[in-house]
Amino acid sequence: MEKQTSSKGEKQIKVLVVEDDRQDFVLINQALKSSIRAKYETEHISNYKDAVSVLIDNEYDVILVDYFLGDETGFELLKRAQEARIEKPIIVMTGSTAVELDDMLIKAGAADFIPKDEISSTLLDRSIRHAIERKTAEQEIARLVRRDPLTGLGNRYIFEEHMELAIARAARSRSRLAVIFMDLDRFKDVNDTLGHHVGDLLLTLVGDRLRRLVRKSDFVARIGGDEFTVLLDNIQGYHDVEMIVSKIIEGVGRPAPVSNTTLDISVSIGVAMYPENGAIGIELMQKADMALYESKALGPGHYHFFTESLQERLVQGLEIERGLKEAINHSQLELYYQPQVDLQTHDIVGVEALVRWNHPERGVVSPIDFIPIATRSGLIIPLGEWVLESACRQMAAWNDMGFKVPVSVNVSPKQLKYRGFFDFVLKTVSKYGVDATDLELELTEEVFIESGSASLHMFNTLRNMGIRISIDDFGTGYSSMRYLKDIPLDRIKIDRSFVSEKGAGSISDPAITRAIILLAEGLKLEVIAEGLETEKHAKEILEQGCSLGQGYYFYKPLPVRSITRLLETKLRPSLIAGEVKG
Ligand code: C2E
Ligand code: MG
Ligand code: MG
Repeated sequence: MEKQTSSKGEKQIKVLVVEDDRQDFVLINQALKSSIRAKYETEHISNYKDAVSVLIDNEYDVILVDYFLGDETGFELLKRAQEARIEKPIIVMTGSTAVELDDMLIKAGAADFIPKDEISSTLLDRSIRHAIERKTAEQEIARLVRRDPLTGLGNRYIFEEHMELAIARAARSRSRLAVIFMDLDRFKDVNDTLGHHVGDLLLTLVGDRLRRLVRKSDFVARIGGDEFTVLLDNIQGYHDVEMIVSKIIEGVGRPAPVSNTTLDISVSIGVAMYPENGAIGIELMQKADMALYESKALGPGHYHFFTESLQERLVQGLEIERGLKEAINHSQLELYYQPQVDLQTHDIVGVEALVRWNHPERGVVSPIDFIPIATRSGLIIPLGEWVLESACRQMAAWNDMGFKVPVSVNVSPKQLKYRGFFDFVLKTVSKYGVDATDLELELTEEVFIESGSASLHMFNTLRNMGIRISIDDFGTGYSSMRYLKDIPLDRIKIDRSFVSEKGAGSISDPAITRAIILLAEGLKLEVIAEGLETEKHAKEILEQGCSLGQGYYFYKPLPVRSITRLLETKLRPSLIAGEVKG
């Protein structure tokens, strides 16, 4: 933050300058560097795209943005920053043609705007310092609201403060602390089926029980949704914690009378210990959260301590996360394409785009190893945009060669929640001039379960444009079928676990594949089987009534060059320009 003080006793302020005109940047830089009131450290980004990915790093005190950035505007960047919840103030520099935008810019969240031709050291200095001060004040106010209004417990801010104090005390007295992370199992079901009112009552009850179950000196907070944290002070050893945690699981998990019903509830808990697992509050919370995640795998009503193996995974995850940022910015990503075939004719009728990471040391890294990390860290947003853009660019290139290749792109639920997603799809399709009906978005079932009316509207708009929507890995997610009727869909992809899990013999779960095929027929949806590894799989699934398939028996995912060569001979003739339709 700007607290650093240089040798001259001035404040050091880190400024990110997004400016596509090199000359202008030099001027701005000069103005900043000649300030006598503060010491500025600048970083220059010259285009919109890089700016978007750098924004996520969030390592600046303030961001200066030129209004015009190639095809994009500072307006778009403000929108992006808001969506990504960037807390840093953004000041927009407007040229003379953009003065009438000032009001709009402020409304869009700009901290200030500066006409470019008036830029001077004093003006920049004042604008930047005021923007930072205002932002700090806003954050301070949020911090002052220290209680969770629903349960009356502390909120995240005060919990963190408490933790730091307790850690300092424990360090002095060489004692131990435990940080407990707890959430209610299946709380979402309560909210969905009985309504938010009942959900709120339940949270209040849980908060109450929790408070009574721990000692007065222990601190309880609700840090969001159904997540509670407890700080256990002055702990002798793991055994103490186990006792308290068991007591909480039992005590909070008793039948809960709310409204006019009684709910069966249970809670899961993750624990991190000071000093064993870390010396900083936030770190302990993160680790307790990871341990909670692990306890979920044991089923409802369990607890888990943060362990060495979790620590290893954490380190690996962080490494991947760091590397992935590089990968996105330094084009280490590559799309492979796996053909989808007509099981009768073996013609290729489409391809699925699957991302690969060409790691400078580790070689090709599988998406299974980095998509979950990208999702957790938010990097899935720039990564997903890269994938969609590359796929559309490739479609256009194939079009130029006379191939009309339908391409399926995987989209993670987190991308859909990001408000810029929809616009990005539309923009990219039109940018490359591809036929929207050749693009398919593969979504997983959880998207449909969680989706509200806003995303329903989005699906409808996408489909009205002609973009196709399919459910990936069908059958592995939630079993609720309700959404199948409500959501506009084109296709179901039968998960490969039902096809080839048991190896090369017959289909692993023929009853399930058959049921899915019937379901698709009934709903008039296309169906495609994944994971066809043998001739037998392909034959049996075709006999069951599924006429499309994808799998190693036909083709593995292939890099562009190989797939393009393949398309020349294997693409369904009707998809090749100049061929007779049929
Ligand atoms: P998915 O979408 O279900 O993709 C199919 C996966 O099954 C691919 O793994 C593919 O290589 C593999 N596969 C295809 N045929 C067979 C077969 O016959 N047998 C077996 N055992 N496997 C087969 P891949 O490429 O490792 O991708 C794994 C998952 O990573 C994908 O599963 C998808 O969920 C995710 N993923 C890949 N690319 C992207 C992406 O661009 N964005 C997002 N959000 N997720 C992606
Ligand atoms: Mg897929
Ligand atoms: Mg799949």
